[in-house]
Amino acid sequence: MAQGQQLRLLENKWDDGVAASMDERDLLLYRSNLLGADKRITNYGGGNTSAKVIDKDPLSGEDVDVLWVKGSGGDVGTIKLDGFATLYMSKLDQLRSIYKGQEHEDEMVGLLTFCTFNLNPRAASIDTALHAYLPYRHVDHMHPDAVIAIAATRNSRALTHQIFGDEIGWIAWRRPGFELGLELSRFAKEHPDAKGVVLESHGLFTWADEAKACYELTLRIINKAIAWFDCQTKGKTIFGGEAVQSLPAEKRQAVAAQLMPEIRAHIGTGERKIGHFDDSDAVLEFVNSNGLRDLAALGTSCPDHFLRTKIRPLVLDFDPATGSVEAVLAGLGTAIADYRKHYGSYYERSRHPDSPGIRDANAVVYLVPGVGMITFARDKATARIAGEFYVNAINVMRGASTVDTYVGLPEQEAFDIEYWLLEEAKLQRMPKSKSLAGRVGLVTGGAGGIGRAIAGKMMSEGACVVLADIDVEALARTEAEFSKRFGKDQVRSLVLDVTDEGAVLDGFARTATQFGGLDILVSNAGIASSEPVESTTLAMWDRNMDILAKGYFLVAREAFRMMRRQKLGGSVVFIASKNGLAASPNASAYCTAKAAEIHLARCLALEGAEAAIRVNVVNPDAVLRGSKIWTGEWREQRAAAYNMSTDELEDHYRKRSMLKRSVLPEDVAEATYFFASDLSAKSTGNIINVDAGNAQSFTR
Ligand code: NAD
Repeated sequence: MAQGQQLRLLENKWDDGVAASMDERDLLLYRSNLLGADKRITNYGGGNTSAKVIDKDPLSGEDVDVLWVKGSGGDVGTIKLDGFATLYMSKLDQLRSIYKGQEHEDEMVGLLTFCTFNLNPRAASIDTALHAYLPYRHVDHMHPDAVIAIAATRNSRALTHQIFGDEIGWIAWRRPGFELGLELSRFAKEHPDAKGVVLESHGLFTWADEAKACYELTLRIINKAIAWFDCQTKGKTIFGGEAVQSLPAEKRQAVAAQLMPEIRAHIGTGERKIGHFDDSDAVLEFVNSNGLRDLAALGTSCPDHFLRTKIRPLVLDFDPATGSVEAVLAGLGTAIADYRKHYGSYYERSRHPDSPGIRDANAVVYLVPGVGMITFARDKATARIAGEFYVNAINVMRGASTVDTYVGLPEQEAFDIEYWLLEEAKLQRMPKSKSLAGRVGLVTGGAGGIGRAIAGKMMSEGACVVLADIDVEALARTEAEFSKRFGKDQVRSLVLDVTDEGAVLDGFARTATQFGGLDILVSNAGIASSEPVESTTLAMWDRNMDILAKGYFLVAREAFRMMRRQKLGGSVVFIASKNGLAASPNASAYCTAKAAEIHLARCLALEGAEAAIRVNVVNPDAVLRGSKIWTGEWREQRAAAYNMSTDELEDHYRKRSMLKRSVLPEDVAEATYFFASDLSAKSTGNIINVDAGNAQSFTR
């Protein structure tokens, strides 16, 4: 708990009414989801739950004892029944008789497949043995910060006994696996009154013969630890006291917005990274403290934590008193290079002859005094979760260092987990990255017909996308739709008027704090107008020029600034129009503004080339479906110009095209994706017309 917070115990959420109709499997699921819903009970993906259930054997029809245990890679908070591995208890027992000892424990993981009940494809995890051999029907293994804080102290054994008495035992650090499973089993048999154990530097095990009893026990034990810490830490100096003060929230965002693209520049040359920023109270208390550097250097303790965060973070030299970002930037390259060097030496010191090759040596977590925590990973969810894990680690260090001496995991143990061959095999099984993975895109007019199709295409190729628009309602709807389709992490929305210089600057800064920087700008926001020149008002002329010429200039200028700082190149795509090349009657303001966009793109292509910033143009024509432009006056004016009803327009344009086809927003999205991605790595200053063929707009 950060200073000033009230003691908040875990609430019992078990509802007998809900549970009454459930069988043992459903009760296991119910319990798991309840436990995983509170990050104080277990971190994302951390811990596991199990139940030993009587099932019917599909061949013999006989009742058999089956272990249901969270499968590899799942999260108890969001798990469904198919997330559990199921294994015959009789076969798991047989495994014990063929176990050849600790040097061979990793081989047992492969043998778990042979214990599978009912051809369940869910892979059993390394922790299966930790549940299987405990002589209780229900087992919870959780990673509560309050218990890990005890498990990560120098005197964790004595403290465990002091807090829980004989009810909860203690087992010295051992990497999870078959051997630890046997040790837990021995402990439980030798201590029949014990209700669980604290695993040093790792977490908590609790057990019972009923699902509800197990749940309530887990909560009671964690609450005991939470209350004990509250009492022990009251009035004590936390993290050695405050060394610096936080900047105001707006300034923290501004500093992070400046730092994140620069960090990305140094770490994104191999695999592109996505960023996440957190300036919550718990983080600020730590990064502002006297103890920051010493504690951060000790590294995290729970294996789950550092697998996500790397063993230690990189603390940046920012002084909130001077507020000078330039000073940090001047030393950033060296700080990042030093981190990589240290990581390389850690790898060399600890490696075994058969260890997998060194992985990306860059830090995942960057701590900035007075500002907060920045995390970078291959995608947004991973960066966010790494941040959440480091908050878990902060909570652990806070508790442990206040009541005793905090100890991280020994370096060799940390390495052996990080480069565990079983862990490597899991990484190798991960699907290949999509073409825009690790890329950040911003689409102006992203809530409109063409913008939405472009954003959707980019997200389906793995990009994180910021939708920027002035249509608040359509923006909220589009963001919600994409969150559902691609997950909340991949999309953000900004109410942004491209004609407002201040709003554009602010929008790009927000993009930096949300995702870490920018790789792709699609300037697409637009309107259309139709009027003979004599009746074109100055207001109409200015509106076209404002949105289509000035607006495209403003967002492109900001994209150039950020991309240059990032030094990773970039792609700018202008959605102009056939009308920018082909003169049309009664639309001089629109056509002229679109022509300005096209020429601006050419000029920028020239300027951006030396920084690997490519600038290209997509020219749509007559995209009626989904477009808001085509629902208003423009539709009526065009229909009137051609002397036909509005319903006849789409067919009119189709017939007018050389290929006799209608152009859809998805067609424009495909061309834009081509320019946004590396497929067009060698194209700049180019134009693709997506107009089903129109000789008037041939580019040469
Ligand atoms: P649309 O109206 O469906 O989408 C345009 C979006 O831009 C809207 O959501 C609107 O709210 C937004 N917008 C308008 N002014 C803005 C501002 N100042 N700041 C931020 N956002 C603003 O239209 P669409 O058909 O999807 O058009 C997208 C682009 O394609 C436009 O630039 C348009 O000129 C161009 N274009 C469209 C067609 C076509 O037939 N639909 C043809 C050629 C070119």
